[in-house]
Amino acid sequence: MRASRGNAADTPRDTSLVEDPEGILGILAGWQGVGVVIRRDLPTGTWIFVVLHDDTLGPPTGGCRMKVYARPSDALLDGIRLAEGMTYKWAAMDFPFGGAKSVLAVPRLLSGDERRGLLLRFGALLNSLGGRYGTGADLGTTTEDMRTIAEVSPYVIGVHGRSEGPMDPSPYTALGVFSGIQAALGHREGERGLSGRSVLIQGVGAVGASLARRLVEAGAEVILSDIDEGRARATAEELDAEVVAPGAEYDTPCTVYAPCAVGATLNRETIPRLACDIVAGAANNQLGHPGDAEALMERDILYAPDFVINGGGAMAFTLIYQGASLDTVEARVRSIGPRLETIFAEAELRSTSPAEAALAHAEAILARGPEEGAPSSFEDMRALSPE
Ligand code: NAD
Repeated sequence: MRASRGNAADTPRDTSLVEDPEGILGILAGWQGVGVVIRRDLPTGTWIFVVLHDDTLGPPTGGCRMKVYARPSDALLDGIRLAEGMTYKWAAMDFPFGGAKSVLAVPRLLSGDERRGLLLRFGALLNSLGGRYGTGADLGTTTEDMRTIAEVSPYVIGVHGRSEGPMDPSPYTALGVFSGIQAALGHREGERGLSGRSVLIQGVGAVGASLARRLVEAGAEVILSDIDEGRARATAEELDAEVVAPGAEYDTPCTVYAPCAVGATLNRETIPRLACDIVAGAANNQLGHPGDAEALMERDILYAPDFVINGGGAMAFTLIYQGASLDTVEARVRSIGPRLETIFAEAELRSTSPAEAALAHAEAILARGPEEGAPSSFEDMRALSPE
């Protein structure tokens, strides 16, 4: 990711005059994002970080994560990393949003009135930003939480829509991954069909289970793996699928390995073990290190870049926010497959990894800037019909 847009890992940091180089100011010393809003919520002891990374294409937008962190600076770093990822996710989809993420670093898991109070005060903070940031559900927050924030703020994606009420993004994320798997099969095997292909899904949660159902319907042989083995077994029974123990997924022969659990599962230790032709799944930040994309290429494994293949939920949320019909939403989410086909072809042409090609594609869209007539605020967005 480009340092000029403020990549936390790549940018040289000038920590002269910074009292705590390892703390919050030290982290921000070299960061060139739009800015970070920091607020301490005294009633709950929560540190709130709203990280705005880039606003080239439109208002910075990204989910709200609620989590217990060892230190507030860990929460800020998480927010920065996730906000940078959102910049590239929106750009890769050519959607009129910038990259952002908010983190509610809670001292312990909150519930009841305490949780509701925090969410309402977070909503008031969104309003004070006046449309400079839009939020949605993420790890640790639910659609119900978003509905609470939306009681006081219009800047919540996935709740306010002309045609639909609150929704769950995971079936749309799964549909995007499904269409990405078809595209990868078409590129790699010359045949998009799933019949007779084996797909191993790591993480049988909201996205993984929905993906498994689609794949089985399309004739694929599905293998499931989850640290919650009961969850894997329950879905396997429903779908007549196979289960492998956690850890064994990397060595199990399959056509497609679909990481749908946590990040960084593609790394120096696991890549040599993979027994698949394709990696295509929903998890964010799948590569342990950017160089792992080349390691996959060297092993002749086709990798569908995570920030392109897993954008279906974000895409659906924003289209529904604009009032799109469900047919339009489904058609747009399915366009992730053709977008990946272009990226695979581009990578082959330039002898680079698909991850590099996808970044170059997103960079080109960021360099172009917003399309003429693209909405530049949440208000414009809701006034425009995507049909
Ligand atoms: P989820 O919490 O519903 O499911 C995750 C599943 O992974 C759980 O069943 C959990 O037990 C399992 N798991 C956790 N660690 C594991 C490990 N080390 N090995 C095997 N299994 C493990 O989450 P989800 O909403 O299905 O999202 C899955 C992934 O996709 C996450 O990385 C998420 O960031 C990403 N993602 C989700 C969406 C969405 O719409 N939900 C959108 C984009 C990206």
